[in-house]
Amino acid sequence: MSQVLMLTVLVMFQIGDGSHVNKRFILVGDKVDPNNENNVTNSTPVQTNLSTCVSSQNSSSSYLDRAKCVLDSYPLIDGHNDLSELFRTYANNSVYGTDLYSDLRLTWDPIEAQTDIPKLKAGKLGAQFWSSWVTCGSQYKDVIRMTMDQLDVIKNIIRKYPEVFKYVSTSQGILESFNEGKIGSMIGLEGGHSIDSSLGVLRMYYELGVRYMTLTHSCNTPWADNWHVDEPGYNGTILGGLTPFGKKVVQEMNRLGMIVDLAHVSKKTMIDAIKVSVAPVIFSHSSAFRLCGHHRNVPDDVLYLTKANNGVVMVNFYDKFVVCPPNNKPTAELTDVADHIEYIRDIIGVDHVGIGADYDGIPSVTHGLEDVSKYPDLFAELIRRGWSDLDLQKLAGRNVVRVFRKVEEIRDSLSSMIPIEDHIPPQQYVNSDCRTDF
Ligand SMILES: [Zn+2]
Repeated sequence: MSQVLMLTVLVMFQIGDGSHVNKRFILVGDKVDPNNENNVTNSTPVQTNLSTCVSSQNSSSSYLDRAKCVLDSYPLIDGHNDLSELFRTYANNSVYGTDLYSDLRLTWDPIEAQTDIPKLKAGKLGAQFWSSWVTCGSQYKDVIRMTMDQLDVIKNIIRKYPEVFKYVSTSQGILESFNEGKIGSMIGLEGGHSIDSSLGVLRMYYELGVRYMTLTHSCNTPWADNWHVDEPGYNGTILGGLTPFGKKVVQEMNRLGMIVDLAHVSKKTMIDAIKVSVAPVIFSHSSAFRLCGHHRNVPDDVLYLTKANNGVVMVNFYDKFVVCPPNNKPTAELTDVADHIEYIRDIIGVDHVGIGADYDGIPSVTHGLEDVSKYPDLFAELIRRGWSDLDLQKLAGRNVVRVFRKVEEIRDSLSSMIPIEDHIPPQQYVNSDCRTDF
C-alpha cells in the first residue's frame, strides 16, 4: 500500500528575529491515510521548509543551527517530565509561590531541577507530556487524592504561564499550540496504582485530561506486574503480566482514547498489553535493553512487537538507563543516548523511536544532556551522524503524533462500545479499615 499524506493546510508561522532558525512551518491538517494498514505514515516528504535547515558547512556550529532549524519545523514532543513531582518535593505544590522563570537549581536542587522556562525555550521544546506521578507508597491509601493534587499542579502551571504553555488534549492540539509558539502541554499519568483498581476512576482521569497512563510505576498493582519482577532475586508477588482485570484496563483505555504506556512494566506485562491493545502503545521514557541491561529498558523481542503494533519507544536520558552492563563505562555521554536512538532505529525503523528524557525525575544525568535546554545538542549529534531532517522530525514528534492520532481514531471507531464495568472488590487486595463497606 502506498504511503499517502493528505496535506490540507500549510501554515507558515514566523516568530522571533526572522532568522531562518526561528521560522516555523507546519502542516496543521496533515492526515494519516486510513487505508494504510501498516500506518507507517509520515514518510512522504512534506512541504515544510526543511531545505533551509541544510547547511553546506560541516561544523559543530552549523550542526547546532540545523538542529534548531529542524526543531522549529516540527514540534519536539517529550514523553515524560516530572516537574510536578518536584513541586511536591520542594514547594508543597505551590505553583504561585514558585517562579518558573528563575533558575530552580539555586532554590530546589542543583541536579534534580532540570526544567525552567528559559531552559525550555533554549531547548526548543515543542510539546510535553507532563507526568502526574505519586509514590507507590500511597497505593491502597490516599493515592487518588495525591494524584488529583498533581493534576492540579500541572494545570496550574499551564494556567499561570499562558504565554509559554497551552493545555492540549488532542493530537491536533499539539500542532496548533506549536503554531502559536506555545509548548503544547498534555498530561501523562505515571502509574496504574493511581486508579486504585477502578475503571470509573480511570474514566474520570480521562475527563480531567489524562492522555496516557503508564500501567505501573515501580510497584505491582493488583492487576499488572512492574519491571522489578524481572530482576534477579526478586521474591515478591508475581502476577504473570496482566491479570484478566488488567486486560480490561487496556481495553477501556483503547475505548477512551488514552494511550497505553509500557515504561516501568515487566516484560510479560509489555507483551500482554501489546497483545490486547488494538491501538499503538508507547514507552514514554525507556531506552534499549540491549545497550543497557536495566529492566526499565525495552528488550529486543519487545521492540519487534512494538514495531508490529506501530508504537513508539521514547528514549530516556537517565544515565543509569543509558550506560550499564553489558556496556560498562564510567559516565554516560550524550553520544550514548544517540547510540540508543540509533540502535532502536536500526532494529525496528525510524518510525518507532522518540524522545522521553525523564527530566526532573532523575537524580543524576547524562553528560551533555543535563537539563531541558540540551535537546538541540542531541539533534546536532544525530545530524553529525548523517540523519535527514525528515527522520529528525519523526524522532522529534511525528511518530508520537501518528500514535496519538491512531489512538483517537480507534476511540472514535469504538464509540458504540459501552464502558467496561468490571471491578475488583477492594477486600480482595487491601485489608484496611479505611475502606467503606458499602
Ligand atoms: Zn518513570
